[in-house]
Amino acid sequence: MALDSKIPEGPLADKWTNHKNTIDLVNPANKRLLDVIVVGTGLAGGSAAATLAELGYNVKAFCFQDSPRRAHSIAAQGGINASKNYQGDGDSTYRLFYDTVKGGDYRSREANVHRLAEVSTNIIDQCVAQGVPFARDYGGLLDNRSFGGVLVSRTFYAKGQTGQQLLLGAYSAMNRQIGRGKIKMHNRHEMLDVVVVDGKARGIIARNLVTGEIERHSAHAVVLGSGGYGNVFYLSTNAMGSNVTAAWKAHKRGAYFANPCYTQIHPTCIPVSGDHQSKLTLMSESLRNDGRIWVPKNLEDAKAIQNRELKPTDLAEDKRDYFLERRYPAFGNLVPRDVASRAAKERCDAGFGVNKTGEAVFLDFAAAIIRYGKEKAHVKGLNEEDEALIQTLGKEVVKSKYGNLFQMYEKIVDENPYETPMMIYPAVHYTMGGVWVDYNLQTTIPGLYAIGEANFSEHGANRLGASALMQGLADGYFVLPYTIGNYLSKDIRTGPISTDSVEFDEAEAKVKSEIDHFINNKGTKPVDYFHKRLGKIMWNKCGMARNEKELK
Ligand SMILES: Cc1cc2nc3c(=O)[nH]c(=O)nc-3n(C[C@H](O)[C@H](O)[C@H](O)COP(=O)(O)OP(=O)(O)OC[C@H]3O[C@@H](n4cnc5c(N)ncnc54)[C@H](O)[C@@H]3O)c2cc1C
Repeated sequence: MALDSKIPEGPLADKWTNHKNTIDLVNPANKRLLDVIVVGTGLAGGSAAATLAELGYNVKAFCFQDSPRRAHSIAAQGGINASKNYQGDGDSTYRLFYDTVKGGDYRSREANVHRLAEVSTNIIDQCVAQGVPFARDYGGLLDNRSFGGVLVSRTFYAKGQTGQQLLLGAYSAMNRQIGRGKIKMHNRHEMLDVVVVDGKARGIIARNLVTGEIERHSAHAVVLGSGGYGNVFYLSTNAMGSNVTAAWKAHKRGAYFANPCYTQIHPTCIPVSGDHQSKLTLMSESLRNDGRIWVPKNLEDAKAIQNRELKPTDLAEDKRDYFLERRYPAFGNLVPRDVASRAAKERCDAGFGVNKTGEAVFLDFAAAIIRYGKEKAHVKGLNEEDEALIQTLGKEVVKSKYGNLFQMYEKIVDENPYETPMMIYPAVHYTMGGVWVDYNLQTTIPGLYAIGEANFSEHGANRLGASALMQGLADGYFVLPYTIGNYLSKDIRTGPISTDSVEFDEAEAKVKSEIDHFINNKGTKPVDYFHKRLGKIMWNKCGMARNEKELK
């Protein structure tokens, strides 16, 4: 099949505006005749479902959690990018576009990224209007911080809970439509197949996870906002439920996959502690605004720290190697994630790791505490030479910025990160690859769309921090609601899609026979056993470093 990305003609900066001005629309009365299934209620699916219903389409939304509010987007911590240039530090649509393409190692589709940069500012306005409590500065204006791979501050945030707050916004918008009857919400349902009729996606087969019943659902178009495939590696920062079934089933029905080899390894996660774990915990990238990453300069010191014979706080400054600041002076600790992860692995492989297994580096806030403490003392006219006072004031500032992350770290590691540096190590976090989509976010199956982390198009070989939330909400609030209309405008006379057809019969029978096979195969090992084994192979052979021999 020849892939046609359907990128509009014309200069990059005009493509989206021209496209919106020329594609077909569906008038409000006709929208009421059209049904859309949205699989997934994270930031991508939730925002899409709410917007499509607001426009007038009849939406059926599905998620496997007990509430849309529990989609994995809730875990997002650090922030969401937008080129508002509130800081007056030189940001612009072009700069956000440029940083994203460069950060993605020039592997992203540029037309999509430019569109993303253009609509990024609308997202912030939309979310503020919904009441999302973004952090504000002293004067009450929206605050920003910096993320890796950029030289400006463009990240909007709500402490370390940005995903949760944004999801509550999308969920409220959904709830309004559920209340109006425009969204029929199917919680605790897992999509197990896409139904293709005459070459078009016309419905899904889903399993009711409470009753076990297999159900048929039809629509004029199907949207997948079903998240990424990081769990292929078993251990990752994703929830165990993020299991990629939806995208995989769509692939088996003919939706192409793109760039499955591009997995993001996040540099700041809590290191693996043993074989009992099913999940790893992220320490948000925002911590790299103030935390300094280092390992000892000398192998003997590293060994002493590993064996707990030497405390990191007792190691003199000149015996520490702030390796990111040393190697990348312009970006320092805020280099892109892939660069930071590879550098940490290289130092640990060379023997400089700092935990028991030698697979951790330090993320240290001591300098930030002193810097903030002195500033606060100065502002309040207090004694800037009083070390105890500086510590107290500095810790207060750090707590106000990252308090929940520090608390989470202490709960898991049982060490106080205000007193001793955090230990971090890279872990699987995000998948840049995904279901192939064209400029309209349509997959290679007509009528089947993919949005958010489930698709592949925006982040190339490496996603910059705070760009996933931006993409999910751009797709759901501002892109798909336009582009899907162009497709649905041809369906205004089709009438409701029946579930009583050979295609639905065949898909349902296939799902049932697969479930029967797994339930009755009398195996002796649980699914997790195989998942763990596969995950280990993936991490060791296809993880941060790959070579021909191991891949074979
Ligand atoms: C710990 C963590 C922190 C992060 N922090 C940030 C951050 O600060 N900034 C940033 O930009 N990005 C961050 N990310 C990335 C970002 O959160 C995700 O990429 C993004 O939220 C994905 O949104 P989504 O809507 O595409 O998918 P998800 O939120 O994963 O939602 C998937 C939805 O699909 C449903 N689903 C899946 N399969 C099926 C099926 N078969 N049947 C029915 N329903 C199904 C699920 O129930 C769920 O509702 C973070 C990610 C993690 C893991």
